Amino acid sequence: MKCDRCENQIAFTRKYSGEKLCSQCFSNSILRKTAKTISKYKMIKNDELVSVAVSGGKDSLALLNILNKMATNHNFRIKAITIDEGIPGYRDEALEIVEKFCKKLNVELTTYSYKKLFELTLDEALNLRENQKMSSCSICGTLRRRAMDYAANDIGADVIATAHNLDDVLQTFVINMLSGDTNKVGWMDPDTSENSLRKIKPFCEIYESEIVFYAFTNNIPFQSEPCPHMNEGIRTEIREFLNSLENQHSGVKNNLYQSIIKISQIVKDSNQKQKKVCKKCGKPCTGTICSVCSIILKLNEKKT
Ligand code: SF4
Ligand SMILES: [Zn+2]
Ligand SMILES: [Zn+2]
Repeated sequence: MKCDRCENQIAFTRKYSGEKLCSQCFSNSILRKTAKTISKYKMIKNDELVSVAVSGGKDSLALLNILNKMATNHNFRIKAITIDEGIPGYRDEALEIVEKFCKKLNVELTTYSYKKLFELTLDEALNLRENQKMSSCSICGTLRRRAMDYAANDIGADVIATAHNLDDVLQTFVINMLSGDTNKVGWMDPDTSENSLRKIKPFCEIYESEIVFYAFTNNIPFQSEPCPHMNEGIRTEIREFLNSLENQHSGVKNNLYQSIIKISQIVKDSNQKQKKVCKKCGKPCTGTICSVCSIILKLNEKKT
């Protein structure tokens, strides 16, 4: 069967739209969609330095590949940063893949470790937690947010680009709903152009399955070994639930995404009326102290 746009053979069928594309047309469509998301939400401005957070997974290396291509004919620059959480076995393989790929693309890479920034590795931090209620990923994700802010400031970046895809956005929304954290939904608005250090997600409108195929068809290497802590939180179950819904009802993920965008804008506006900032670091938060500062404080108390 022939591609909808050229004479080549079909390599990918987009179930929700019915498009049938060859490998080249599919890759071009991902590039175009990413560029469209970036411009729709004013994610990158002229002359800016974008710090691309790479983990060694398929999504982040695909993002680095695409932003690197875009940087050649747009007015912005990129540098890569990677965070070493200190997860023995897992992170070492990823770091090797990231280093090789950045060298191949000729992109400057800097690595920042939890050990250096917080004086403990993730595994050491997990041993200090009071109970298992706080999942590994929530501690790890919180520390990573702070590490990425530090890294971006350190390399002089204006923007931090992460490879969160549409599936990640939906999962985060459901997690926020299930934990009663409705204020956080206001932070999900993809337009962060008003913030000083902006966090952007250029893949936020692309299904995870499409990023996987993009990485595969473009021979992008990625770490296949999963993190040993991956299944401790609720995210995996939500991911499977949303995937099974999509299998039965193609396009349902796109619909949920559109609803999230509308809801997040309403919550963002209402949050702005009662704007709260963290007493410690000055970043927006829902209480008196942000989750990053609160975890770091708790860990420091335990250490002493
Ligand atoms: S799966 Fe969880 S613990 Fe592992 S690297 Fe990701 S956020 Fe950290
Ligand atoms: Zn084609
Ligand atoms: Zn804070």
